[in-house]
Amino acid sequence: MSHTTRLENIPVAGTRSYPPRHSNFTAVFWQGLKQGIWQTTRCGACGHATFPPKPVCPHCWSADMSWAPLGSRGHLYSWTRIHAAPAIFATESPYAVGIVDLDEGLRLACRLLENENTIWTPGMPVEMVVLSYEDGPLFAARPI
Ligand SMILES: [Zn+2]
Repeated sequence: MSHTTRLENIPVAGTRSYPPRHSNFTAVFWQGLKQGIWQTTRCGACGHATFPPKPVCPHCWSADMSWAPLGSRGHLYSWTRIHAAPAIFATESPYAVGIVDLDEGLRLACRLLENENTIWTPGMPVEMVVLSYEDGPLFAARPI
C-alpha cells in the first residue's frame, strides 16, 4: 500500500470518559490512530474490509487479515443529539453522535464534531478526525 491517510489531530483537554479496551490486536489500531493513521483490516481471501478491525473475516471466516489504509471521507447516514447521557458521559452532554458511511462502503458510529453553526443533515459529506485526549485518541467526524 502506498497511500496512507493521516487524519487531522485535534487536541482535547482532559481524558476520555470511556477509554476503548485494548487487546494485542486492537492496540495496532489505537496506536496508529494516535499518530493520525486511519486504517482497518481487509481479508486476503475474499477482499472485504471490515470496521471495526477484526482478526477473523466476518464474511468468509478467513484469518488471512491484514491492515489496510482507509480514506478520511464519507457521508453522514444518520445522527442524533444526546441530552440524557449515560452517567459516564453526563458532563459532556448534550453532544451529537452519528452513523457515517465511509467512501470505502464501511459504516461506523462515532461522535460528531460541531460548532454553533453546524446543521447536521443526512447525506452531508463528512471527514474523520482524531480527538487527541490526554490519555489517548478517539475518532470523530465533522462536516467538510
Ligand atoms: Zn473474507
